[in-house]
Amino acid sequence: MVDEGELERRIREIGGALERALPSRARHPVRSLDERAMQLASEDAELKAALFRFVDVTPACRSLDDLSRHLAGFLGEVEQTPPPLRVAMRMAETGPGRAVLGAASARGVRHMAHRFIVGESPRAALGVLGGLWDGGAASSVDLLGEATVTAAEADRYAVRCSDALETLAQACAAWPERPALERDSAGPLPRANLSVKVSALTPLLRPEAPEVGRDDAARRLRPLLRRARDLGAHLHIDMESLDSLETTLELVFELLDEHELADGPSAGIVLQAYLRDSAEQLDRILAWARASGRRPALTVRLVKGAYWDHEVVEARQHGWAPPVFEDKRESDRNFEALTRRLLDARPLVRVAVASHNLRSVAHAIGYNRTRGGADEDLELQVLRGLGDDLLHALTRQDLRVRAYCPVGDMVAGMAYLVRRLLENTANDSFLSEQARGADLDRLLAAP
Ligand SMILES: Cc1cc2nc3c(=O)[nH]c(=O)nc-3n(C[C@H](O)[C@H](O)[C@H](O)COP(=O)(O)OP(=O)(O)OC[C@H]3O[C@@H](n4cnc5c(N)ncnc54)[C@H](O)[C@@H]3O)c2cc1C
Repeated sequence: MVDEGELERRIREIGGALERALPSRARHPVRSLDERAMQLASEDAELKAALFRFVDVTPACRSLDDLSRHLAGFLGEVEQTPPPLRVAMRMAETGPGRAVLGAASARGVRHMAHRFIVGESPRAALGVLGGLWDGGAASSVDLLGEATVTAAEADRYAVRCSDALETLAQACAAWPERPALERDSAGPLPRANLSVKVSALTPLLRPEAPEVGRDDAARRLRPLLRRARDLGAHLHIDMESLDSLETTLELVFELLDEHELADGPSAGIVLQAYLRDSAEQLDRILAWARASGRRPALTVRLVKGAYWDHEVVEARQHGWAPPVFEDKRESDRNFEALTRRLLDARPLVRVAVASHNLRSVAHAIGYNRTRGGADEDLELQVLRGLGDDLLHALTRQDLRVRAYCPVGDMVAGMAYLVRRLLENTANDSFLSEQARGADLDRLLAAP
């Protein structure tokens, strides 16, 4: 049992210290052109849909003229276009205007993508990854690409993952020692860290027959786990939409139980707090960890979940009750409940709390300290491009933080980009509230 009053006092203290350590941009945002467009989008659902459709088609557009025609076409479907975008539509009426508009919008989308994507290939990303390490932060590389439709595509993704492990392991070996990022009380933490998606490892994901996708993905994931073990790297299996959850859990549990993988590599899984039945998912994860006794312990990355809109739309289309909470505060409360259970379950699992919400993060740090846990036994994780300011604040407090760094080209990254933009423009997202200037007491209030 913890003294809840004392914990709340700590959360305010920790959250306040982190907020003071945020670079000033987070408190007084200076917005670029594309950020201003997203701000407008967050105020109008129709406009948001139009801009997202535009972002989605951008990589497929063959010329600047084509690009501006698409932009004007999508904006033309919006009933009340705000004045700056009306100017854009007028520009699209002439050839020279379209060239200027096309160039400006291509720049805007590229700028937005580069905020989230660190390089076109793992090699191209090494500068950023090394810079993060020098600045006191670890990283996890995510090779963009998901929802493959052919076996050849899944094979290519597996080869890219294997190459990425080699490139990362080789480059990381030359990095200077950083004890705070390389050990916790359970032992060493690999420097090279790769996050992979099951939907990219198999085109056969079938929610009604999880074993089909599991067996097919296992053929590609097993060699990757072996490679990670031999290179001393960590492999993290991301969680995607609900229709792949069962396959993902079964796949990870089965492979990690195999004899040849009993002593490594370090591996991880993701728990999504927006799922109404996430407490039961955690029961399963902990039951597996207890029964397997595998070392190094499984890392559980706790997130709220990135497929909220998808899950709600999908459920409504089928006439089902959504599997996710529908009130944001319920997801926030559940996130805190799961944080506590995970921290209390150590050393059975390693815990990574992934959030840009100052309250959720301060709660994890505060609860850990209140229970007598060491800071080194809690990892905090952020997404490159969304959590950069928070990452900076956390490293300044000597907390262990890891940035999730997508790598790849814009075509492969579109689904990822759209998820980030959806999150960023959602009115009740923490980052939107913070950018609107909500005061600290409100931001740190218990959900
Ligand atoms: C390092 C890292 C790795 C990640 N990996 C994954 C992953 O593998 N799989 C995955 O799904 N996500 C992943 N995410 C994304 C994560 O799930 C969240 O989408 C994102 O971090 C936003 O949550 P927040 O706590 O930062 O922000 P907050 O603004 O506090 O929370 C936003 C979240 O609340 C939830 N939400 C929004 N509206 C509602 C509503 N009306 N009712 C109920 N809940 C609502 C949604 O989950 C939304 O993303 C990752 C995030 C990070 C930082």
